[in-house]
Amino acid sequence: MIIKTVELETVCGITSKLPDNTKPEFAFAGKSNVGKSSLINALMNRKAYARTSSQPGKTQTINFYNINDALYYVDLPGYGYAKVAQEVKAKWGKMIENYLHQSPMLKRVFLLIDIRHDPSVNDKTMYDWIVYNGYQPVIIATKLDKINRSQVQKHMKMVRQGLGIGQDVTVIPFSAETKQGRDEIWALIEEMMGE
Ligand code: GDP
Repeated sequence: MIIKTVELETVCGITSKLPDNTKPEFAFAGKSNVGKSSLINALMNRKAYARTSSQPGKTQTINFYNINDALYYVDLPGYGYAKVAQEVKAKWGKMIENYLHQSPMLKRVFLLIDIRHDPSVNDKTMYDWIVYNGYQPVIIATKLDKINRSQVQKHMKMVRQGLGIGQDVTVIPFSAETKQGRDEIWALIEEMMGE
């Protein structure tokens, strides 16, 4: 995909009304620090447009990036940051749930999982929410460059087993360092835009 224009068009807080977009939306979910901003930047061909989290868990907004005036990348708030209060965690959950419920233009949800670690309970919950709301998640296994090439298959299996998914669910290994996986994700987005 050739990225011509990128604009952070809408930022929604807990009380904001979601935008009435008419272009397809592709959402990105994952726990704080999983590499979500880095992935979104890579998919925008920008170095630091989406904020990378020096303070993980800080941002509690849903950010809509208008890409080429043709589609939106939707950056959902990162979950699972240990140091925030239960009450704040509940708010994030509500925001994500509302978004999944009320987004007619949402085409697909990408769920990011750190390839090095077993998926957490929150990751599993997020996966179940996506499915419950009628979407087929695409898993992105992030930080691929951090593991040895000989370990990749083992870790991919770990991610699948941790989420309890079979071969019917797509898992794409990705590295923001090498950009491996980026073309595959773009190809999926282009394919799904017409659906
Ligand atoms: P977010 O909280 O999910 O938005 O995560 P960030 O994109 O801010 O990334 C968290 C940290 O992981 C940062 O220090 C990034 O530089 C680092 N990071 C993200 N993706 C990768 C990757 O693919 N490879 C490596 N080596 N580091 C990454």
